Amino acid sequence: MSNLELLKKLIEIESVSPNDNGCFEVIKKEFDGLNFSFKETKYKNISNLIITNGNSKNKTFCFLGHTDVVPPGPESEWTVPPFSGEIVDNKIYGRGAADMKGGVSCFISALKEFLLDYKNPNFNIMILLNSNEEGKLENGKVDRVINEMIENGQFIDFCLIGEPSSSKQVGDVIRIGRRGSLSGNLKVFGIQGHVAYPKQALNPILGIGKTLEDLKNMEWDHGNENFDPTSFQVSNIKSGTGAENVVPGLLEMNFNFRFSPESSPDQLKEKFETVLKKSKMKYEVNWTLSALPFLTSKTDFIDIVRSAIKDINNIDTRIDNGGGTSDGRWVAPMGSEIVELGPLNKTIHQIDEHVDIEDLNTLKEIYKKILIKVHQSA
Ligand SMILES: [Zn+2]
Repeated sequence: MSNLELLKKLIEIESVSPNDNGCFEVIKKEFDGLNFSFKETKYKNISNLIITNGNSKNKTFCFLGHTDVVPPGPESEWTVPPFSGEIVDNKIYGRGAADMKGGVSCFISALKEFLLDYKNPNFNIMILLNSNEEGKLENGKVDRVINEMIENGQFIDFCLIGEPSSSKQVGDVIRIGRRGSLSGNLKVFGIQGHVAYPKQALNPILGIGKTLEDLKNMEWDHGNENFDPTSFQVSNIKSGTGAENVVPGLLEMNFNFRFSPESSPDQLKEKFETVLKKSKMKYEVNWTLSALPFLTSKTDFIDIVRSAIKDINNIDTRIDNGGGTSDGRWVAPMGSEIVELGPLNKTIHQIDEHVDIEDLNTLKEIYKKILIKVHQSA
């Protein structure tokens, strides 16, 4: 199947997280006649597919991807049905076109073309796919598979993640790390009472009004050359009994830090509580650490990716480690060199997600060039 045909087939499968729904089967067929083996594992609600061509002492290159997609949202708002993969004006539309069935299909096509010219690559090739990158943590993540590899003494040298990293042109941006994510649920306790008798009540909304301002203005760190400064956001806040004459006794707030490696979770917790204590209100915080930041420090693989982008698309790529977290966080503890490179991200998770057909071809050529350069450098 061509790159485009494969992508269309994958888009037609409604693989909303954590369900692969048959994408793996379509992908496995692409390896007919090639000397690869498959291993499928299931843990909680996540399915994983590991495709490998052996495990020699050579370096291991891994393409990491996911087959699940976020829900399409209201279908009536889409120009074409979200699971149709229809082509309009040389663009293929559908949920997952860019995030990240596009990257997956480009890589598989690139690999097959590479193997036609290089029948015996001098490195191990692995494709690791999972069905719950976008979904909830409690449904399982790819970390278990990676941890098993570590326990079995397996190692990934170079990890290429096909997430949509590009901004305006394919390859203009790559990611070599990601910020961490720390969430908190805050409860502020007041004393419920009648609004007409404020001395007998304690209002948690007014009590932390100033605190919110302080949190907003706080400089958590300055970031560094690879990361923006840590940012703080409030996602939900609720208080009030519904009645207009009652001072509420409780306020609840959800917040999140996207943090650079310049701050540790403990430092952020401590700074947050220092600000909060100034309010003199009684409170309780429950913390959830969803991801630690990571950064690829070795440059061998980054240089390969950079020069492949230059060769094919003639642009000097820029490193930007913004955006949400990615599955790279699970691979990072292995010590692998991790680079994220994929199609344009401007329509991901949106109504009318799409990718340019020409961009898909460029991406496939860049991926192929990366494989050639890994072969030559090994
Ligand atoms: Zn993704």
